[in-house]
Amino acid sequence: MKINIVGSGSIGSSYMSASLIIDDHILVDVPNGIIKYLKHLNYDILKIDTIIITHLHGDHFFDLPFLMLGKYFNHDKTLIKVICPYGTTKKIQKLFRLGFPYDFRKVMENINIEFIEHKGRNNIILDDNIKINSINVKHGTMKPCFGYIININGKTVGFSGDSSYCNAIDKIVEVSDVSILDMSLKEDGDKSHMGFLDIKEICKKYPNKKIIATHMRNSTREVALDNPIKNLIIPTENFEIKL
Ligand SMILES: [Zn+2]
Repeated sequence: MKINIVGSGSIGSSYMSASLIIDDHILVDVPNGIIKYLKHLNYDILKIDTIIITHLHGDHFFDLPFLMLGKYFNHDKTLIKVICPYGTTKKIQKLFRLGFPYDFRKVMENINIEFIEHKGRNNIILDDNIKINSINVKHGTMKPCFGYIININGKTVGFSGDSSYCNAIDKIVEVSDVSILDMSLKEDGDKSHMGFLDIKEICKKYPNKKIIATHMRNSTREVALDNPIKNLIIPTENFEIKL
């Protein structure tokens, strides 16, 4: 399994918002601007056949219409599966209505996209080798929000999405070879996000697990780089890890 952290920033940071791509074809979260950015990094966006969405905040799904338009303009009818929270299709339709009125139906009729909406803890098996589990995480008043545990050929990566430190985070770290965790805040976490001190605690609790921080503010990144932790990676642009 090859994992690239294409975005590790939060909304206000100078890095692309949190997103990762697995084996060049599974995109986890679709923040605003990610499709153009993937092209800038020389990814072939037409190779993306699976999209996983953690929750319906704009910095996690607003670029999905642009991926759909990319498929449409390229007359690409290969199937793309979108594993997403309940209500995603309606919101995508709304985004089209705002940005590209009357085009949603036309695009939907000419591309091959399947929205797999779910409400809770879920076990999705894409094929014999790819298994995806969603897990409810706690992200302030925003509901539902999911973390995901993705297993490919026996290797496992976990992604917290946006979350405070809750039981689901321990579960993700316990079962994953590498965990990519929300570390928005430079000190304590709050009800919506984890902070550097939460991540420090997690790294100490699971010394043999590899943790990668994401969704960082620039100030958080600076604090983390000044205070290195053995099993914590602060990713640079398009950081790659192979399992
Ligand atoms: Zn969020």
